[in-house]
Amino acid sequence: MSLLVVGSVAFDTVTTPFGHADEVLGGSATYFSVAASYFTPVSLVAVVGEDFPAKHIEFLKSRNISTEGLETVSGKTFRWKGEYGFDLNQAKTLETHLNVFQNFHPRLPESYKEAEVVFLANIDPELQLDVLKQVKSPALVVCDTMNYWIEGKYDALVHTLKSVDIMVINDGEARELAKEANLVKAAQKILSFGPRSVVIKRGEYGVIAFGRDGAFAAPAYPLESVYDPTGAGDTFAGGFLGYLVSTRNFSDASIRKAIIMGSVMASFNVEAFSLNRLKSLEYSEIEGRFMEFRRLTHFEDLS
Ligand code: AMP
Repeated sequence: MSLLVVGSVAFDTVTTPFGHADEVLGGSATYFSVAASYFTPVSLVAVVGEDFPAKHIEFLKSRNISTEGLETVSGKTFRWKGEYGFDLNQAKTLETHLNVFQNFHPRLPESYKEAEVVFLANIDPELQLDVLKQVKSPALVVCDTMNYWIEGKYDALVHTLKSVDIMVINDGEARELAKEANLVKAAQKILSFGPRSVVIKRGEYGVIAFGRDGAFAAPAYPLESVYDPTGAGDTFAGGFLGYLVSTRNFSDASIRKAIIMGSVMASFNVEAFSLNRLKSLEYSEIEGRFMEFRRLTHFEDLS
């Protein structure tokens, strides 16, 4: 089963109470692809400028990520600058420079058009739809977004959601998209836009998903050392969907297990700046933390 992602590949400049990183590798599609690559091969659709170093492309290739759909054009790579206070759940965007994404019209390589699962990572919703239209008959379409697009391209985003099966979104953005303060009502409103499930990320408070069989909640893994939450949402989505694709099973039960795998991957990502923790991560560590999650949440066997 093949997994395709479209989203940003970026240089991020990030400040948290625990440090600073300047122009490091980031982007929604980058975090997603690297996290998903632990479970399944990934086909990446994005654009970078001539300033994007070959070493980053080599790194993606080394993770079994196809970069055939990663175009290099003249101009500058997408840049995002953000900061976090002691509440690491809230990123404050200081600067967004779309640069080469401004005029990006992707033409999918032939092999990508057969993709069975598509992740529309955080990027312009018109671009998300443009890519989706080129995929012949996807079995599952999952979508993320952020306040920048909710505020700038609301109608296009709601239009894209008509073609989406699962929406993955953080709590603040779910409220903003639904124009609804209560999270349960916000989820219902998002479901009315088209998706059959909505998975709401709540930072250090975990995840709550709403679908046909009701709600499912999972905590975040309790971590002592959180340095940089950038990309946690995309890494969650990568673990979630990479795992789901590897099981070839999209039932609600399988979705629940995939939510735990997404939470496991996100918990590693926040332990270091940029993709540094994912770069050194071993599969055995993922399995170990998945088991710890089981112990963390199970209470049925206790007397
Ligand atoms: P997350 O922390 O998972 O919400 O995602 C952070 C990543 O999203 C960063 O690596 C940024 O490069 C990327 N990003 C920030 N703003 C945007 C935007 N408007 N469109 C696409 N990607 C963005």
